[in-house]
Amino acid sequence: MLKLDSFVFNPFSENTYVVYDDDTKECVIIDAGCSNIGEENQLFGYIDSHRLKPLMVISTHGHIDHIVGNPAVKRRYGISVAAHPDVKDDFIRSRQHAVMFGMHFNGESELPDRNLKDGEIIKIGESTLEVICTPGHAEGSVSLYAQIEGWVFTGDALFCRSIGRTDFAGGSYPTLIKSIKERLFHLPDDTTVYSGHGESTTIFDEQRYNMYL
Ligand SMILES: [Zn+2]
Ligand SMILES: [Zn+2]
Repeated sequence: MLKLDSFVFNPFSENTYVVYDDDTKECVIIDAGCSNIGEENQLFGYIDSHRLKPLMVISTHGHIDHIVGNPAVKRRYGISVAAHPDVKDDFIRSRQHAVMFGMHFNGESELPDRNLKDGEIIKIGESTLEVICTPGHAEGSVSLYAQIEGWVFTGDALFCRSIGRTDFAGGSYPTLIKSIKERLFHLPDDTTVYSGHGESTTIFDEQRYNMYL
């Protein structure tokens, strides 16, 4: 079974998740949002004190609040950044966004090192994360489904009682609604939803109470 912990980082209050297998200590970092030395120390301190072995950083999409920490994590652990190839334009734009929002994004160009595709299975110890493509909020947005644990990490596609904005470059409202209804809402009702911002929720509660859907 996997365990997880989360951190709230950067001016956008982004959720960074560390997901790990307690037996092998293998871990992945989902959306490295650490944007300064203090936040980096919090994340690295957690990983190091639990003696975790990071396998990769997974970026659910390419917005700056979700990728600003990628260079620091790569430098620290020598691991790859995995994302869907369609995040490319957002990754490139993020360099300007970092300047606009006063964040330091120390990337060369920092495109993903490893391309994720729909249905791909990422192994963490004996457990798995399945890549589910959920575009609409941003191009190349993915969700990550831990079947055994009953968790799904949705990035900014689906939030507790809300959905992602679709007015950024590459966003599409009909595409987002399709992603949520045809992909996320097909997961079991009791699946816990861990979003890119805010509280966790369940698929059941969002099907029933989310007024945007
Ligand atoms: Zn976003
Ligand atoms: Zn976000």
